Amino acid sequence: MSQRILGAALAALCLVAASPASAAEVPAADFAPFVARQVAPRVHLLMTPADYFGPVVGNVTLIEQSDGLVIIDSGLTAGNGRSVVAYARSLSPKPVKAVAITHWHNDHPQGVSAIRDAWPKVRIIATSATEAGMLGPEADGVGFRPDEKFDVAMRAQVAESEAALVKLLTDPETAPDRKERVKKALEAYRLFPDSYHGTYIVPPTDTFEREFLLDDPELPVRLLHLGRANTNGDLVAWLPRQKIVASGDIVVAPLPFGFYSYPGEWIATIAKLKALGFTTLIPGHGEPQTDTAYLDKLVTAIADIRAQVAPLAKQGLPLDDVRKKVDFSTSAALFGTEPRIRANIISLFFDPMVQSAYKEALGQAIGQGDPERKPDYRHSPPKPSSKKHKS
Ligand SMILES: [Zn+2]
Repeated sequence: MSQRILGAALAALCLVAASPASAAEVPAADFAPFVARQVAPRVHLLMTPADYFGPVVGNVTLIEQSDGLVIIDSGLTAGNGRSVVAYARSLSPKPVKAVAITHWHNDHPQGVSAIRDAWPKVRIIATSATEAGMLGPEADGVGFRPDEKFDVAMRAQVAESEAALVKLLTDPETAPDRKERVKKALEAYRLFPDSYHGTYIVPPTDTFEREFLLDDPELPVRLLHLGRANTNGDLVAWLPRQKIVASGDIVVAPLPFGFYSYPGEWIATIAKLKALGFTTLIPGHGEPQTDTAYLDKLVTAIADIRAQVAPLAKQGLPLDDVRKKVDFSTSAALFGTEPRIRANIISLFFDPMVQSAYKEALGQAIGQGDPERKPDYRHSPPKPSSKKHKS
């Protein structure tokens, strides 16, 4: 996934700066590339700020329980994980007791090694499907221990991205405001190899199927698999007392990511997410949300894709022809008319969702990643050694 994520990061250059920086943001260099904010008492969020245009990094949520901190996701790199450690230490002298991984895409689990270095007894919790994704051939941008060859491969990708950015910067056709974003992206890419150095996958210590409870008198955290949605193993972290949910990439704003998703089940999972009755939703990427307006847009868009694709697929049309016939202009407009959103929502959401909706209509399996992909230069994966929890 890492090559695609970097590709997506490049595309993210053209992405919208989602919203103005909140007054509550703490732009602490110690936690770069994140900025920190408090979401509620003893609940904190690390996210990349609106003017960040480097490789895509998921949101990280920190919850302070009575006997330790619970962290939801860990970023893309060991360097991101070190920032999470520094921030956790700035919040509390308590240890980090658990890290929950929302899904296997590389910008969520790959900071864990740094957190485990700091707190060797930390529990690493995921659904069993997410564990399979983390150990599978698709997550092949890193190995299962630090290895220079992954650094070399990453530096080559970064050099390619930098070359494309420099080209944009020197192109007289590039608009001045875009040049400013390109400059910021170049800064982020120059820092990236150091942040990536030594990054590797740490497998979960505990897996579950439906629910895993991290109990606490004040801040219990229910880790839930509500159904397949953005991936086959999406985990949400639900704080029933605070009515806060961290959704992982089931919800990504200002525009959703659609690769290898499950359209029909995604809609059903969003209904369950809404039924929790949250007052704050922390998405996998983007600003926290305080109502269900964005979820409703997402459902409308997914339903539109399914409604257009299914009859064409069932007529026997090949996928490429189906793609040419569908019209997403109405659904795309739900996510705003901002040109930088419009430029990316097709490739990051609608195109991959057409593929999934096509398979779904024909009753074909939707795999996690390219079935042809071979684990070419990766170490052979460790056998899952996690404690399997039946619930
Ligand atoms: Zn993500």
